[in-house]
Amino acid sequence: MRVIWRRLQELGYQLFGATRALEGLDLARQHLPSIILTDLYLPDMSGLELASSLRADARFARIPIVAIIGEDDDNARDLSVAAGINGFLAKPINVQALAIQMEFFLSGGTDMIADEGRIDQARAKLLSETVARLEARIRELETKNAELQRLDEMKDSFIQLTAHELRTPLTLVQGYGRLLEDHPPLRRMMEQDPEVTILIQGLSDSITRMQGIIEDILIVSRIMTNKIDLNLTPLNLGTLARRAVNSFANALMERRIRLVFDESQFPSSMRADADLLYMTLVNLLSNAIKYTPDGGQIILSAQYNNHLVRLSVKDSGIGIDPAHHEAIFERLKLPQSIETHGTSKTAFGGGGLGLGLAICKGVVEAHGGRIWVESAGYDPERLPGSEFIVVLPLSVAKGEVGEPSTATTRNLGKIRPLNARQR
Ligand code: ADP
Repeated sequence: MRVIWRRLQELGYQLFGATRALEGLDLARQHLPSIILTDLYLPDMSGLELASSLRADARFARIPIVAIIGEDDDNARDLSVAAGINGFLAKPINVQALAIQMEFFLSGGTDMIADEGRIDQARAKLLSETVARLEARIRELETKNAELQRLDEMKDSFIQLTAHELRTPLTLVQGYGRLLEDHPPLRRMMEQDPEVTILIQGLSDSITRMQGIIEDILIVSRIMTNKIDLNLTPLNLGTLARRAVNSFANALMERRIRLVFDESQFPSSMRADADLLYMTLVNLLSNAIKYTPDGGQIILSAQYNNHLVRLSVKDSGIGIDPAHHEAIFERLKLPQSIETHGTSKTAFGGGGLGLGLAICKGVVEAHGGRIWVESAGYDPERLPGSEFIVVLPLSVAKGEVGEPSTATTRNLGKIRPLNARQR
């Protein structure tokens, strides 16, 4: 091929080269070349399969496809013609004749084989060879897929086990930390020297943050392995939301973010898993704070009817590119690079492990609800903001846990127009 490439370059042809058939197919579809030259033996597909695939596309119905083959390989010639190849360059390549051969093919010349019977036989053989190769490839992919699934499960168990193992010593560290804080000599030091208090506080905050991360990992791995058990109890969503809002009081004050929240909009009775719902609200509020610059505004609101409640967390922050609206709900999917990632729950631009929204989605869907985001785009200058919307059934019936609720989908239509009017 290299000899041909060099000679064609000398002759002034514009060339596009690929080492794999699939890459070649992409290049051909992109550039629609005047002629295609191919080897018969390529690493992913054969040259015959490449030609068949090209001929199935109307744009390549008339473009000359030329195969490079061994001099006396009549069998390969028959199969090539059956696959739609209409010219040959026999090895060893006669470089001097290349210019004339190219002109011949480009002007519509072909190396057809006259014997139709032989071509019919070749077609049948080509078909059976392709089917056999396809079958072998499917089996290979199935084996690889099973192996990937096994590795994925191993990875989930490993993550779960590691998080469990880390949780135990961390709880001990926290316990010792508390004992230390209550230790009279240290108490005295803290009273005498404010710097000691700051150091101890820093230690305790870091432990709490680390515990939060470990809990997040454990919940995500439970969600991913479908081991999420809902502890359904009657709850007052307004009280729950107020608790979530209050947990950010300091951060909101420090960052001068106004949080608009009217508890009376929330249903006072629903059945759900209170801890998981609280965690969802905290994650959404924490994100809204993280991605809203100082002085911004967040609105936590709710609407409900007899069946559903629709929660909205709307911020005046940096917004999210529509291309990422679905991916951000997948675990560890972050639009920005990992290197620029912080771990603060409330600092502007601070991030986490990319688990927060995966947790929200897992929890909401386990309740038979839906979660999505609406945002005009990402723009840290103009701040288009984002709105995260959660629709949940007011009561999760037993059989519905963990399955997309038909009740939710059915009643969504009733609750949506209300919101459309409001906007
Ligand atoms: P993280 O722990 O990084 O915050 P999340 O799963 O909570 O992970 O969010 C995933 C990504 O979605 C974030 O890294 C961020 O890029 C984007 N995102 C989430 N919420 C918002 C928001 N309110 N405004 C802008 N971007 C957001």
